[in-house]
Parts: sequence; structure tokens; C-alpha cells
Amino acid sequence: ALTIGIVGLPNVGKSTLFNALTKNQVLAANYPFATIEPNVGVVNLPDPRLNVLAEIFSSERILPATVSFVDIAGIVRGASEGEGLGNQFLANIREADAIAQVVRGFEDSDVVHVDGAVNPASDMETINTELVLADLQTLERAIPRYEKEVRGKKIDTAVLDAALAAKEALDTGAPLSATKVDISPIKELGLLTAKPFIYVFNVDEAVLTDAGRKAELAALVAPAQAVFLDAKIESELIDLDPDDAAELLASTGQDESGLNQLARIGFETLGLQTYLTAGPKEARAWTIGKGWKAPQAAGVIHTDFEKGFIKAEIVSFDDLVATGSIAEARAKGKARIEGKDYVMQDGDVVEFRFNV
Ligand code: GDP
Repeated sequence: ALTIGIVGLPNVGKSTLFNALTKNQVLAANYPFATIEPNVGVVNLPDPRLNVLAEIFSSERILPATVSFVDIAGIVRGASEGEGLGNQFLANIREADAIAQVVRGFEDSDVVHVDGAVNPASDMETINTELVLADLQTLERAIPRYEKEVRGKKIDTAVLDAALAAKEALDTGAPLSATKVDISPIKELGLLTAKPFIYVFNVDEAVLTDAGRKAELAALVAPAQAVFLDAKIESELIDLDPDDAAELLASTGQDESGLNQLARIGFETLGLQTYLTAGPKEARAWTIGKGWKAPQAAGVIHTDFEKGFIKAEIVSFDDLVATGSIAEARAKGKARIEGKDYVMQDGDVVEFRFNV
């Protein structure tokens, strides 16, 4: 499953946000190190197209695509050296496909800030430095092993070269994503600073409605994407019915919840897209990578669909809406039969034909 790991200093609102993500109450407490067990929260990717499909096909239920978030412990300065929560916790993010860094923008004198004051730029620097140090440590352990394996002709020298180039870049303090180092030969190391990043600013209502301040914060992290939310409001939103939730959002100048934004931006950051299936039982979105071909996409539904793939009947979502039904789409020549080399497009409405 594709997952996004949540990191951040202690007391920035990770647990509060994660509660909202899972609708479960995990431990949220006003002291550092409250969050110690990794947890996974799954959120739906909002997709209004599914409601339209469910109407056209009279589907009983709607199953959106999902994005998984892993909640991992707060990092403190020195985490890479084993102070605070240390390395075992960083190990949990090595598996993640992307990292969401929660940054505190809210002021509250009752909530202790580990460094004494709320300062988003310096907090991000602390975390990013820890991640760079953690990657350096990983490489310092791996390089002697790679050297030995190259001497024994067990691995290609490209692996060692990539590790050395990565170390050299990190020694300058740069995260790998900001360098041109090709780390594909050392993927197995799960280097943290090479992962795509999303920044989640946990802010007050005053900032949510302040476009200028948001632009300043977004500029600090560009080209990475920034999401602005108030974790406390997010956790209130999940308990409200849709109308009341919309009203609360509107009162804070938003038209989409922070969690929805996070799911959407997470999906984009991971380079994912969806195709759609629909019938009387369900209207459903399936997650695939950009550029995937039809058989691989079919494999997401079932491995047998990929193995026995024959062809796919595809109508684009827009054509389906314009014609009103699959039968009409066929009659108007809008339903295409595609073979195994077809590159899937976002919003394709698909029916696969396969051998079992
Ligand atoms: P974590 O250590 O990063 O997981 O932080 P928590 O989620 O446990 O939050 C630490 C404290 O800050 C808790 O007392 C939360 O209620 C509070 N908190 C979290 N988000 C907000 C927020 O947006 N505004 C305010 N005022 N307090 C918040």
C-alpha cells in the first residue's frame, strides 16, 4: 500500500491531526514523546465523479480511492544521535513513499514548544537537518558494506558510486531531493531526504483566512506543496454532519477540509491517478500510477485480471456524462476497445475482459 509518513517536532499537532485522520482517539497529550506507537490512518480521496457514476449506474455504494498515513513519533533535535525518540522511529518512515511534515503555526501559551517559541522556518530546519543526518548515518553504515561487496564482485560499482555521491551531497547539508544525485541504485536504503515532501501547516483561524501569510509560508517550502489546516477544527469536523461541517469550514474561509486537501495533494505528490468502475453494486475508484498500461491497471482489481487480460472497454468520464449511459456511449462510438498497450488516463471508466 502507498503510504505517507507524518513527521514533525513534538507538540505541533501530529496526534490531533492523526486523530482526525483515523477518527480514532490515539493518545494526544500536552507533553513531548506522547506519540510512540506507529499507527496507520486511511483517508478517502474525495472524488465527486463517483457520485455521478453511482447515479448513472444506480450503484448501491461508493468506494473512493484511499491514501494511507503512518503516524510516527516526533523528531527532536538530536534524534539522529539517539536523543529523544531516536533511530528506531526514523526506521518507520523509511518504508513510506512520501513524507508529510507537520509544522506548528498556532500560538497557544498552554502548549509547550520544544524550542521555546513558535517559529515555522526554524522548526522545519530542525527536522530537515535531522533527516539529512539520519541519511548520512544510513550511508556511513552502508558504504563499507558496499565496498566489500564491490571487491567481492557481488554488486555493481554503480551502487557504491551512488552511495558515495549521495554522501557527498548530504555532507553539504542538502536534502537529496534538492540535488541531481541518481539514487535509483540504492533504493533499498529508503533514504528519507530523497522522498517527496508535503508540508502541513497547523495554524490558527487567523492564518487560515490570511492569504498573505499563507503565501509566505508556502514560499518557504516551494516547490514542495503546502497544506494549511487547523488540526483542532479538523478533529471537530469529523464529528459533524455534512451541512454543519460545510458551515464550520465556510466560517474559517475554506471550501474543503484540510484532510481532503491532504489526501488530494498526497495523491498528486505520489504521482498517482485513478480509473473508475461502476455497476449496480458499486461505483469505485482504483489507484494506479501515471503511465500505467491497461493490464497492470487491471491487476489492481485482481492479479487474475492482469494475467488473463484480453482487452478493456473504456469510456472517458466526460463522454459517459455527456451520453448518459454506457449503451448510449457505445451507440455514439464513444466506447473504445483498448488492448494491452493502452496507457490508462485519469477518469477512464473501464470494464476489463479477461480469461480465467
Ligand atoms: P504532537 O506531539 O505533535 O502529536 O502534538 P499533539 O497533537 O499531541 O498536540 C499537542 C497539544 O497541542 C495538544 O494539547 C493539542 O490539543 C494542541 N493542539 C494541536 N493542534 C492545535 C491547534 O491547531 N491549535 C491549538 N491551539 N492547539 C492545538
